[in-house]
Amino acid sequence: MRSWPAPDPATLPGGGTLPGRGRQVHLHDTASGGLVPTGRADGTGPVTLYVCGITPYDATHLGHANTYVAFDLLGRAWRDAGHDVTYVQNVTDVDDPLLERATATGVDWRDLAASQVELFRGDMQALSVVPPQQYLGVVEAVDLVAQSVRDLLDAGAAYRVPGAGGAPDGDVYFRVDADPGFGAVSGFDAATMRALSAERGGDPDRPGKHDPLDPLLWRVERPGEPSWDGGVLGRGRPGWHIECTAIALQHLGMPIDVQAGGSDLVFPHHEMGASHAHVLRPQDGSFARVYAHSGMVSLGGEKMSKSLGNLVLVSKLVAAGEDPATVRLAIVAHHWRSDWEWDDAVLTAARERFVRWSRAVALPSGPPAGELLDGVRERIADDLDAPGAVTLVDAWVEAQLTGGGADAGAPDLVRRTVSALLGVVLPA
Ligand code: ZN
Repeated sequence: MRSWPAPDPATLPGGGTLPGRGRQVHLHDTASGGLVPTGRADGTGPVTLYVCGITPYDATHLGHANTYVAFDLLGRAWRDAGHDVTYVQNVTDVDDPLLERATATGVDWRDLAASQVELFRGDMQALSVVPPQQYLGVVEAVDLVAQSVRDLLDAGAAYRVPGAGGAPDGDVYFRVDADPGFGAVSGFDAATMRALSAERGGDPDRPGKHDPLDPLLWRVERPGEPSWDGGVLGRGRPGWHIECTAIALQHLGMPIDVQAGGSDLVFPHHEMGASHAHVLRPQDGSFARVYAHSGMVSLGGEKMSKSLGNLVLVSKLVAAGEDPATVRLAIVAHHWRSDWEWDDAVLTAARERFVRWSRAVALPSGPPAGELLDGVRERIADDLDAPGAVTLVDAWVEAQLTGGGADAGAPDLVRRTVSALLGVVLPA
């Protein structure tokens, strides 16, 4: 699947020839609960990133934007350190909520997905998010996913469930007890897992399963639903978790340096995805070195979600005349792992900051900015502390607007620092 156009190379690490190099990034890992160094310390060599993509049935809201901007900060910091970054993202372009929305609105599910993916592309481009090298829809990867399901069946880690309550025979489920390390990503107890499974797309109460937590791998064809030839699986469509595992193993191998997504993916999605990989490739160790989870954005005191309908859409903000760089600045002013509230004050503060930063870098000279670049690199390398970096830029801007300075290269260095490392493109 086509991704979206990359930002202007001059605004990226390397493109604007920032002096020196970024540092090794340390990132908070959900599984260990601590900071983990990523990539080689000297910045050389490849690093791999998989960020779970959208289910395209409602356009990009601020919660999505928060996640993709967070891991865009990581990709930029890695490139600034010298790494060769391979980034893969999926699109869950066939799944229950998408099909339900299509039926409810009388739109073909393929048209709904295509239109929402197109909106997402536009939003990512507007927000200066560097695109993944591989952007893959499940529909494109069905054969790959079906092969992984057959491999899990062959390994004795999956089973068919008899039909009941209107469901046909043959849906395939994964045995969570096939992975001795199951539970290590989230660290949740059984009761929490069961509650989250019911809340987030699982079916703990379905009769015939070995364990209520066992997730769906292959859903055999139902009347009126899209289906594909799964070989011995019969016609059907993939479950959610195995889709990401199969795509990640095919395009990144294992271990992935960072498996990422919003914190609502910790369980069951990333827990199950890791267990699938551990059973498929028992010789390859851990599925990921770091499991990274971004915080949730709320509106009116509730997490922004499609089901609640309390969404602020990036495309609507931009259509209403908001500069997307202001939206990005509003996002990076919050720590990527924290939960935060979107309100008018957040947007107003970002607008004011954007105007001040733009004025400061438009002046012909300013206070020296080498220390600022070093400080921003240090903050970002420390668990993507973008708010800390924003505070440092604020301090330079304050000094610039109140006293100024004689360094003729400083304003441009600040502009390049902010665009390359924070992804906030200030007017030239
Ligand atoms: Zn995923």
